[in-house]
Amino acid sequence: MIKDNIRLVEDKISAACKRSGRRTEEVTLIAVSKTRSVDAIREAIQMGIVDFGENKVQELSHKAEIIRANLNWHFIGHLQRNKVKYIIDKVALIHSVDSYRLAEQIQAEALKANKIISILIQVNIAREVTKFGVTDGQALELIRQIAKLSNIRVKGLMMIAPFVDNPENNRIYFKNLKKLYVDIKSKNIDNVSMEVLSMGMTGDYEVAIEEGATMIRVGTGIFGERNYE
Ligand SMILES: *Cc1c(COP(=O)(O)O)cnc(C)c1O
Repeated sequence: MIKDNIRLVEDKISAACKRSGRRTEEVTLIAVSKTRSVDAIREAIQMGIVDFGENKVQELSHKAEIIRANLNWHFIGHLQRNKVKYIIDKVALIHSVDSYRLAEQIQAEALKANKIISILIQVNIAREVTKFGVTDGQALELIRQIAKLSNIRVKGLMMIAPFVDNPENNRIYFKNLKKLYVDIKSKNIDNVSMEVLSMGMTGDYEVAIEEGATMIRVGTGIFGERNYE
């Protein structure tokens, strides 16, 4: 079942790329494996998936330790400063940085571990009160500050779009994040590369790709409905 789902998602990615004149290789599919079993993850690995997203520190850390394959673990949840140390040697990319204080903590742990850590800035582009992230107006200033931290590389932006029935309703937010990304890229800030635009989930990834997503985060579309019990 997971295998069929992955094939279907990959077909939809290709079609969305074709529609928007993009190459399929420009889009990385992150399988969001939060709440999923190690067996489910192994099934996705057999299909060639190497990027997995988790939103809990303990869960990422645990799974990364038992599945000793060469995978890219993406941290996509809200990150508490006192927990940075548990994932610093395991993550490929932290998608959810939205404060200088958090960046400073990542810098401190990265320095200790002698690592360079790639991060994205989470932007709350739709200004939903329930979501984390900086406003579009605050993003550039935060990036300029973080760019001075020697063990951090800012690679791009991430957003979590509103939950909607019609994915077209999120198109404007994807467009706006892309605009902000292009604008920040044009500033050519040292240590800031702006090559990753992480947007689009199961309900709206095709629209996100049409608007320029380079990473999409798909959970339900690959593994089925989540069971939080
Ligand atoms: C859970 C989650 C996803 C995946 O959501 P689906 O709707 O299951 O695809 C993507 N991004 C973030 C940040 C998440 O927490």
